[in-house]
Amino acid sequence: MRYIADHDFHFHSTISPCCHDENQTPENILKCAKENGLKKICLTNHLWDENVKSPVEWHPKQRFSSISSVLPLPQDDEVEFLFGAEADMDYEYTVGVSEESLAKLDFIVIPTTHLHLAGHTVREKIQTPEEAAKYWVIRLEELLKKDLPWHKTGIAHLTCNHIMKGRAPEVIKLLDDKVLYNLFEKCSEKGVGIELNMKTLNLSQEEKAIVLRPYFIAKDCGCKFYLGSDSHKIEALKNSKENFEDIITSLDLKESDKFLIGK
Ligand SMILES: [Zn+2]
Ligand SMILES: [Zn+2]
Repeated sequence: MRYIADHDFHFHSTISPCCHDENQTPENILKCAKENGLKKICLTNHLWDENVKSPVEWHPKQRFSSISSVLPLPQDDEVEFLFGAEADMDYEYTVGVSEESLAKLDFIVIPTTHLHLAGHTVREKIQTPEEAAKYWVIRLEELLKKDLPWHKTGIAHLTCNHIMKGRAPEVIKLLDDKVLYNLFEKCSEKGVGIELNMKTLNLSQEEKAIVLRPYFIAKDCGCKFYLGSDSHKIEALKNSKENFEDIITSLDLKESDKFLIGK
């Protein structure tokens, strides 16, 4: 059975410093999810837990106390609305979530690919695709060494533009098949979710092949996938469905490939 696009486990609300749409409230998000026929959604504002030490100064709006201010989330008979977070990883590979917060979160997404945040996630600004590819691998390797509740953890936007602005395909091309197999076999063993939100619509066959290669390898390793639009505005949330369907078709995903939180 074809994978059903019935959920979205990564998006932001006005709590996130990078969300500039005042309409991106939990109430409007829920309404929009319902219109898109979604059954389960998870709010994932940026988090750096105030109880986790870091040499980096994170935005005060990323504190757990700040992201918790949305609670209780509105609910609906047709849509389950979960409370999650996008927990960052600093340049010492510490993940910004404490055990106490983890217990209160339904789900976390961890971006190993926020390589654009020089001084935060990487010490210095990345200059070349080779350097970006190196950190792409190291940060994912380091994440997989952690002791995390993998059944409620996802790895965010692995092929996003943050890996190198305007040059992400060049970076992805540098990732070796064998290295990817090794990493995704570990992901599969742990049962961590792999996020899907890369833009595949309107790409040429050649461009599509580049961006999809890591995901085909992940699928081959038995990884499970979830959809996460990473929307920061209502318009993006509304328009996410068409691209989700294109990803599902492109990767030929079945319901058995779906990551279910907590399963
Ligand atoms: Zn992100
Ligand atoms: Zn995000």
